[in-house]
Amino acid sequence: MAVKNRIADMQPEIAAWRQDLHAHPELRFDLPRTTAKVAGLLRDFGVDEITEGVGRAGIVAVIRGRRTDSGRVLGFRADMDALPILEATGADYASQVEGKMHACGHDGHTAVLLGAAKYLAETRNFDGTVVLAFQPAEEGGGGARAMIEDGLMDRWGIQEIYGLHNFPGIPVGQFAIKDGPMLAAADFFEITVRGKGGHGAQPHVSVDSTLAGAAIVMAMQQVVARNVDPLQPAVVSMTGFQTETMAHNVIPASVKLTGTVRTFHVPTKELVRDRMKAIAESTAAAYGAEVDFAYFDGVLPTINATDPTGYARAAAESVTGQAPLDLPPSMGGEDFSEMLAVRPGAFIILGNGPSADLHHPEYNFNDEAIPAGSSWFATLAEQRMPLSN
Ligand SMILES: [Zn+2]
Ligand SMILES: [Zn+2]
Repeated sequence: MAVKNRIADMQPEIAAWRQDLHAHPELRFDLPRTTAKVAGLLRDFGVDEITEGVGRAGIVAVIRGRRTDSGRVLGFRADMDALPILEATGADYASQVEGKMHACGHDGHTAVLLGAAKYLAETRNFDGTVVLAFQPAEEGGGGARAMIEDGLMDRWGIQEIYGLHNFPGIPVGQFAIKDGPMLAAADFFEITVRGKGGHGAQPHVSVDSTLAGAAIVMAMQQVVARNVDPLQPAVVSMTGFQTETMAHNVIPASVKLTGTVRTFHVPTKELVRDRMKAIAESTAAAYGAEVDFAYFDGVLPTINATDPTGYARAAAESVTGQAPLDLPPSMGGEDFSEMLAVRPGAFIILGNGPSADLHHPEYNFNDEAIPAGSSWFATLAEQRMPLSN
């Protein structure tokens, strides 16, 4: 997907920023080096305003167009945080921090938006205002919500919000998008099963929390299979099972079960949650055990608004000369959903080529996707806020 424009000529410079961010991954809200780099570059570009520490570690920058008569204000968001993964890419700019890695490509998203910022601050061929939001803590931690609660939308008057995420398996630089629900709500839960610990040789005088926990794991499979409307997407994954002790001759007093629930609609989510609680409690009771059931609301479903999806699609087509692919909805979750819940906007997928999957130790953002990504933001600004003459 060769992009031929001025931003394409900036690709080596943008890739160098990306690789520098990649070598120095930071987690959640703890992003001192990353934010210093981003703010420093934005200052070099000559943007009109920079505010740091928005939502603890977010950065907001403002670029005004050649004119601002339209009164229109577009928000562009990129996430900056990495993951607690031991990198195995073998890249010469691989992570220099053992156990931390940019395995979701947020290094790429940040660099792509920086590239657009440099171009837009230089050219300003639009009538309106662009507000850039560099967000912390996308990977759990609620960075989007933190920025919103710190006034991101109201203090800067953002009217529409746009963002992108790379995706392995889609041709590099190709776009994909979907109007309406696109990514799922992602909740999580923790169930503690309490029995009565004892000697492994004396099961009859203990209450076996391991057996009750195993029965709960099995019983949970019926929620999606038997309770949820077959036409409503839902996932219940029991992903963790931890016994209190790991001795051959001890029946542990308790076990802890963890996992995630993915849904698209609130009534389905509530049904799943209530059924899980009832099943955990009654299954445990059948074994003489008790449970503490804790359910935590995670990110909302990511729902693209119709008109902004159209603008996002048109900009993508202008950049690549090709209509974006129609994206099937996915049960993955993304906290850009929090921004889409308070402003109309759209989230677009940018192909990363045939790379390892997101969150895999061999995953790497594909620098060949940069020209398309940066050009998409820049084109969106110019097309949505045209200078009329
Ligand atoms: Zn991720
Ligand atoms: Zn991500």
